[in-house]
Amino acid sequence: MGATATVERVVLGEGRSPRRALFADTHHPCLGSGRALPYSANRGKKSVNRQALDELKQQIPLLDYLQAQDWQPVRPLSGGRWMGLCPLHSDHKPSFLVDPGKSLFYCYGCGRGGDVIRFAEIYHDVKFPQALALLRQWRGLAPLLQQATDFYRMQLHRHGEAVAYLHQRGVRSPELIEHMRIGYAPGGGCMRAWLLQSGYPLSALRQAGLVTSLGYDAYVHRIVFPLEGNLYGRSLSPSAPPHRFLPGAKGGLYAWAQAQSYPEVILVEGLFDYAVLWQAGFHNVTCSLGTHLNARQFRQLCDGPRAVCLTFDADGNGSGQHAAQCLSRSLRERGIPTRLVSLPEGHDPNSFFVGGGTAHEFQRLLERACL
Ligand SMILES: [Zn+2]
Repeated sequence: MGATATVERVVLGEGRSPRRALFADTHHPCLGSGRALPYSANRGKKSVNRQALDELKQQIPLLDYLQAQDWQPVRPLSGGRWMGLCPLHSDHKPSFLVDPGKSLFYCYGCGRGGDVIRFAEIYHDVKFPQALALLRQWRGLAPLLQQATDFYRMQLHRHGEAVAYLHQRGVRSPELIEHMRIGYAPGGGCMRAWLLQSGYPLSALRQAGLVTSLGYDAYVHRIVFPLEGNLYGRSLSPSAPPHRFLPGAKGGLYAWAQAQSYPEVILVEGLFDYAVLWQAGFHNVTCSLGTHLNARQFRQLCDGPRAVCLTFDADGNGSGQHAAQCLSRSLRERGIPTRLVSLPEGHDPNSFFVGGGTAHEFQRLLERACL
């Protein structure tokens, strides 16, 4: 808390002056000081270069960063400012004010405010230096991953084996492929060549994990799904490890911005499960990319009034069901009504639909799901 408190002092630097209308032409106490006070990390023992911080903040507009974390503006205010639900606490009516011009936020609900660094600290629950590291990483990685995603998407329809694999997994609708931005990594060094040609240094590709230490494309013959700050690659070849992520966090719940508004959310463990459900018309679906939810994913499920239908794999060894039971206990402790959907033995939602299951039959399973 030390670093955080210090930052807050800087941000609240003008808090001594009487409070006037928020976001008037003078400063709101939470909206930063015009004076060039040095940021001070690590309980004031170590100064961080103020200029470097200003540069970082300029390169990461707060609104861009918020939207990359699924935040959506709800109501416009004067001066180009926005109100929306607060991503820092459980918010039911928009109390989170964003001023994109000043790149500052203030929440009338939880009373917190500041700049993009302060936001990253609270949102990711990290201290000041870690927040800086996360933001620097995000700044470098976001355009690179976007470029890689565009490339993989271009490749998808050029490779019959990729389209055939998608069909085999029940993924057929062009709307779904567009919605999930599904691509294909052919390998053979073409990703590396493409990105080098686009001006990225090899070191950046290595650092992102797109290229191995030996200089080869990391994803070879893989269907690729872009995630928030990562790429998931599913191997077509049975001899390669089936699931791969780039180094770093898997991010929050998949496509949460779309699912979160539903009163009941279906949670699945794999992206191919997500795909077939979405294709069958269940747009209230989200995916945790594995049975273990990270802290952020868990917080997302709990961030509003909703029920959750857990639809993990019904694998022979019962590990999916065991994980679902543990998760359902934790969710209920947080007041989230949770039901467990029982699929036929040995099935996951993907194989259920690939095996001929219909939306109507799945709906019946949902209705029969037990508490
Ligand atoms: Zn708040």
